[in-house]
Amino acid sequence: MAINPTDWIFLNGAWVQWEKATVHVTTHALHYGSSAFEGIRAYETEDGPAVFRLDAHITRLLDSCKVLRIPMDDYPQAELERLCVESVQRNGLRSCYIRPIVFRGAGGLGLYPLDCPIDIAIFAVEWGRYLGAESVEQGVDAMVSSWRRFSASTAMPLGKIGGQYVTSQLVSVEARASGFAEGIMLDERGCVCEGAGENLFAVKGGRLITPPMASAILGGITRDSVIQIARDLGIEVVFEAISRDMLYLADELLMTGTAAEVTPVRSVDRIQIGKGGRGKITQRIQERFFAQVAGKHPDTHGWLTRVPMPEPATVGA
Ligand code: PMP
Repeated sequence: MAINPTDWIFLNGAWVQWEKATVHVTTHALHYGSSAFEGIRAYETEDGPAVFRLDAHITRLLDSCKVLRIPMDDYPQAELERLCVESVQRNGLRSCYIRPIVFRGAGGLGLYPLDCPIDIAIFAVEWGRYLGAESVEQGVDAMVSSWRRFSASTAMPLGKIGGQYVTSQLVSVEARASGFAEGIMLDERGCVCEGAGENLFAVKGGRLITPPMASAILGGITRDSVIQIARDLGIEVVFEAISRDMLYLADELLMTGTAAEVTPVRSVDRIQIGKGGRGKITQRIQERFFAQVAGKHPDTHGWLTRVPMPEPATVGA
């Protein structure tokens, strides 16, 4: 999805103009994927923009840095949160996608990253529905990918790490080339893992089933929000391995992610799921999710961080 430039990007300690936010071609992360990043959404509410689950995203960013052995003493949690809020504010965005990225910069071509400088950038851009405009209501068609998600012994599933996204790219290219909106990865055992950039839930007999963390999934923040919403709605959530045929036999399937939000899956491998559209439980969860992010439902979980916007100039002032 193409993005429109905004005005300001935070780069290594200063706010610079969009065109000036560049790095050198010898940047280590460009060659070897030595980066930790986040994807965060801010939604429009009646009181101005609000960032959804900012603290959880920044915690995960710092966790990703930790496993990459990137010290972040100069950018503690509160400072990173403040900078993300500022990225929305400075660019005058009402709703957007915020991308903080910490990466190993220019300073050597060897694989060993720890001698390279630590660079950081934060930008915010407008971003619509990730899996297509109608996806949220009508659902998407997905396929089980021929690519497997890496296991916890080959990479670090809990980290959102640049180099680890090669597999997700293979999955999403294969899916698009085959006429599907998204691909679903199995784990090394052959159990259902997650989408290229989304976690997965099945509904069966009124229960919401999702693979456990031990299935090498990324601990999605939308996944966590949906689990809490389901419990708020009195829907039982279970963490169980899901076999491929359980996907086909589910009453409903849904994908969750910051980009994908809460999206129904209406078919897998051209097999219709349930009645082949958005199921009732998916719709209930979705409605509560979209009400919460837009501040239309009481923020009982403390998920919203308001972005203070400058007061519009009053007439005659
Ligand atoms: N799995 C993968 C591989 C992802 O890249 C993402 C997107 N960050 C997710 C799941 C969903 O995570 P979240 O809800 O935190 O965006």
